[in-house]
Amino acid sequence: MNSIPEIFVAHTSELAESPVWDADNNRIYWVDIEKGILHWYNFSDQAKHELAIGQKIGSVALIAQNRLVAALENGFFSIDTLKKSVTPIIEIESQISTNRFNDGKCDPAGRFWAGTMSVIGKPNAGKLYMLDGNFRVMELLRGVGCSNGMAWSPDHATFYYIDSLSYQLVTYDFDMFLGAISNQKILIQFAPDEGIPDGMTTDSQGALWIAMWDGGNVSRYDPVSGKLLLRIKFPVARISSCTFGGPELSDLFITTARVGLSEQQLKDQPLAGSVFVIKNTGFTGSPAHPFLVSQRIV
Ligand code: CA
Repeated sequence: MNSIPEIFVAHTSELAESPVWDADNNRIYWVDIEKGILHWYNFSDQAKHELAIGQKIGSVALIAQNRLVAALENGFFSIDTLKKSVTPIIEIESQISTNRFNDGKCDPAGRFWAGTMSVIGKPNAGKLYMLDGNFRVMELLRGVGCSNGMAWSPDHATFYYIDSLSYQLVTYDFDMFLGAISNQKILIQFAPDEGIPDGMTTDSQGALWIAMWDGGNVSRYDPVSGKLLLRIKFPVARISSCTFGGPELSDLFITTARVGLSEQQLKDQPLAGSVFVIKNTGFTGSPAHPFLVSQRIV
């Protein structure tokens, strides 16, 4: 097992987030929320690429062939990295100027889930939404503080969710056919000195890998007991998200942030905002579910 983080590419973001491994194209995507930039590194040409989106970009998920679905400041969009185009799908909360989209991910049935948060710290102002392949939107949760990490169990029966401001990881029964969630239970209550739970991913055993913002660590938890199994430390405090990638799905990619750090903290953490990789973790991830579009995106 390896648990030593290395710098993945020499580049820092203000707020790197939403790492997504694209196995078909052999690339890793991530976003810089604050700068509104989509980044990707192609293993085939061994180069980093980027596309300015023109507004804050919370998260992306794969569609196919260079296309992504994205949760931007004012709703859902599709992005074509080849044509370098950004096309609106549907506006959401565009009338609430103090909210923006944050973390998002596709469920095992190919629907895109993404949540919102207040950028001025207004409590419980966020919601969790689900976009299906017919571009219909459903509101799944209201009163969310800061919608963040999402994951589904390998048997697709459980949805894991993090509202960062609650310092909790909660579970729901997940109805894959309807995309409905019910029966909320608290699985993990984090202590404030552990940091703030942020993005997360799962491995092939169903264990949860959670990025701890201001905790400087990624931690692996048992998905049934909620017990801490492993904690990996980083030389930066603001760990935002993580995902498995690489040819064997055994490398862990980790996004981090500089945003909000003081001058002294930035001096102490020169690598803040980097994307890190831990190669050959000894664990295997589960592939990212793509967005399954029923209608043609114009
Ligand atoms: Ca996040």
